Amino acid sequence: MTAVLKQQFTARPDYLIPHFHEHLTIFGQPHTWSYHSHEKPPPGEIEVLVRDFHIPEHHIRTKGLAPCPICSPNHPQYGRGHLLWSPISGKLYAVGHCCGHNHFVNGVFSESFVKERKRRERRLMEAYLEKNHARVAEFARFALNLEPAAREHDRIVRLLISGLTLRRTMEIYRLAAGGEGNLVVYRDGKGEDGERGSLRGQLERFGTYPLKGYEVLRKSRSKKSAEARIKRAAAILPMVGWQTYEDAFAWLCEAPDADLRKLSGVLQDAQQDFKDVVAEMNDLSSFLARDNLKLLTAWSKEQDALQAQLGIYRSSDLIVSVWRGDRQVKSISLPEGFGEVPVLPDPLQAA
Ligand SMILES: [Zn+2]
Repeated sequence: MTAVLKQQFTARPDYLIPHFHEHLTIFGQPHTWSYHSHEKPPPGEIEVLVRDFHIPEHHIRTKGLAPCPICSPNHPQYGRGHLLWSPISGKLYAVGHCCGHNHFVNGVFSESFVKERKRRERRLMEAYLEKNHARVAEFARFALNLEPAAREHDRIVRLLISGLTLRRTMEIYRLAAGGEGNLVVYRDGKGEDGERGSLRGQLERFGTYPLKGYEVLRKSRSKKSAEARIKRAAAILPMVGWQTYEDAFAWLCEAPDADLRKLSGVLQDAQQDFKDVVAEMNDLSSFLARDNLKLLTAWSKEQDALQAQLGIYRSSDLIVSVWRGDRQVKSISLPEGFGEVPVLPDPLQAA
């Protein structure tokens, strides 16, 4: 008894795609796949099931190229092709790159490419959301818990910058960022050859260790405050959560592509914001470590002959004082538990 395979499909048979790939990998002959029709596809509407498949090199070497049902049904013709489904005949065709584009006129073929790309994107987004939708509640909780710490973080950074002044904050940031944290001082050039008064000065590295956490001093206009980023996540996440897996699944099946994209965007943005904000908190905590402040104060003493010297001290575990010259300009209180960095939620799974 010979099994007769169904060769005509009234609906797009996407479920056969993995089978096609498997056949191609094992045999390297798209035309011997049991669902392939050897006829020419009829003109008119056509859909792309698999675009740009490749016959593996080693199969081409031993078995040669595949015949193309359109231009070369009986002779080897192509190594790269597309798997097509015609809603008119209901059949599947593996055709070569050779004639895919010429055989289908009036943009029908390029439209089907666009459709195929959208379909593939949607499949990926669905897979992504199916894997991650259950994390929404956990993310929302994390955002809610992080909010007070993010607010405190913003407050401390604001006071720090106003104490140092924005201009000198930027100066320190640029200097540190330019040397991976290594501070430098400029020294007058007194040439060893005895040329006194020479204008040749030189930069020398200052201190024995680099400044840590200086990234927290970077001020960019586009950067939203830590609190604003966390608040946004806390506000938006509960709106996209589902009660049950069934709810989520029903929604996934019906939601238009744009909503699906928006939702995966929301999760990814939240994850990125958490990561950034926690990294900034880490930076601030390293920046305010006693040794780090000592380094900065000593550097300013050496560097700032023409402007008020900066002094920044951790006068107790929970107090930072900022001095310009002999005047204390800020006293910043740190919250209890400052420096304890929150543990990020596990990363989202890829589709
Ligand atoms: Zn061809």
